Amino acid sequence: MSSGGAGASGGAMSSGGASAAGGAGAAGSTEVSGSTGGDDSDRVLRRDEAVRAAVEQGLLGPGAPVVALLDVPGIRASATALRAAFDAVTAPDTPVLHAFAVKATPLVPVLRLLYEQGIGAEVASPGELALARAAGIPPAHTVLDSPAKTPAELREALASGIAVNADNPQELDRIDAIVRSAATGSPIGIRVNPQVGGGSIEALSTATATSKFGVALRDEGAREWIVGAYADRPWLTRLHTHTGSQGIPLSLMAQGVAETYALAEEINRRLGRRQVDTIDIGGGLPVNFGSDATAPTYAQYARLLAEVVPGLFDGRYGLVTEFGRSLLAKHGTVIARVEYAKSAGGRPVAVTHAGAQVAARTVYAPVTWPLRIAAYDAKGRPKAGPDVIQDVAGPACFAGDLLAEGRALPLLEQGDYAAALDTGAYYFAHHYAYNSLARPAIYGFAPAPEGGQHEVRFAVVREQQTLDEIVAESGGAQPSALTGL
Ligand SMILES: *Cc1c(COP(=O)(O)O)cnc(C)c1O
Repeated sequence: MSSGGAGASGGAMSSGGASAAGGAGAAGSTEVSGSTGGDDSDRVLRRDEAVRAAVEQGLLGPGAPVVALLDVPGIRASATALRAAFDAVTAPDTPVLHAFAVKATPLVPVLRLLYEQGIGAEVASPGELALARAAGIPPAHTVLDSPAKTPAELREALASGIAVNADNPQELDRIDAIVRSAATGSPIGIRVNPQVGGGSIEALSTATATSKFGVALRDEGAREWIVGAYADRPWLTRLHTHTGSQGIPLSLMAQGVAETYALAEEINRRLGRRQVDTIDIGGGLPVNFGSDATAPTYAQYARLLAEVVPGLFDGRYGLVTEFGRSLLAKHGTVIARVEYAKSAGGRPVAVTHAGAQVAARTVYAPVTWPLRIAAYDAKGRPKAGPDVIQDVAGPACFAGDLLAEGRALPLLEQGDYAAALDTGAYYFAHHYAYNSLARPAIYGFAPAPEGGQHEVRFAVVREQQTLDEIVAESGGAQPSALTGL
């Protein structure tokens, strides 16, 4: 499946738009859709149908007051849009591996779905690697990037052929020792921090002057050290960068990639050989949480990169991408029953079953991470009615446990449902165990193939956590552990 071209070190990257997984995606399509998620209005219709069907089929109701749903056709469409966007700007036969950042949605069936659409996995912990393996993603489609890899993790990755990006000189020393003692088929690179600056969310900006990630390229002596590292190690064939996630302007992301490309060119020129053969441009495409429109799109980003860094796409370099949020966010919805509708200080408050446990970022940093809320009635139909300023609260026992504060929505009443939109990445799959609240069930959905317009099929992605599991995870096997000390 490799083109045998520039990316010789990346044994199994796909080329020319062929599906890396040999899956059923729209392989070879060079048509660039204007959206990363299929048609945005179709997605809204599918979501409304799914909420109604979830209530009708009893997945959601008084006994199951919170569930999460994943739009399977939407996920497929985003994967197709990603591949098409880069196919449209790369020279024919350029090896390209799109590796999904597993941390965005660490769910095995999601990884498998993406793999069948030609998307591999970027992992950053032993747990994430285990998930990628459980999804059947082969080492040649997997990239390991974590900033704190132990010697054992490095040994295992290099023994199995997983691509590894070294974060810093000390990690490179460890890799040296492993490479000396055993041959490896792993493509190996160094992560650089181009220090191009941060975006609007400090916590997610990885290319600031003092970021903890990678080798800080503009620090004194860093560039020379990197060139020397490649000169001494012919097996160093990649460069990696990831400028940040959400809040980074596209122009800054492109600048980070441009700096990394310039470094690759400098290394190859000074070494007099094409040693760096693959550039890993990271992920970070922001997601629009303000409406149903998909913006920016993969196509826009790929075109911008092609303008700013044309040499990256002329066939001399293989490419790796690591998108996470932009592949999944708009395809996930948390839906929670309104257990009580009350009023306090003149403000209506809908007390629901979705709060910090499924939306930790929004609850703790509501200004940075506002979520759209959609109101549905007790039958799961979109709720009409005049907008009323209200709070949508969660079930946790602290005052800040709000999905939305002072939001204008049709008035939520007892038995209605509140849906937190665009939560497919970094939300319900990132459970926060406050109040020992159970992890909710997650279902994938798709329109039934033969069914009428209103039929929806569901598949379990993850069952709801049971009380026994909560007890077991909380030391339940050793209740007297402390009393004997
Ligand atoms: C988090 C992360 C990504 C994915 O970022 P998104 O914003 O979800 O696209 C990719 N690469 C690395 C190294 C990361 O840490």
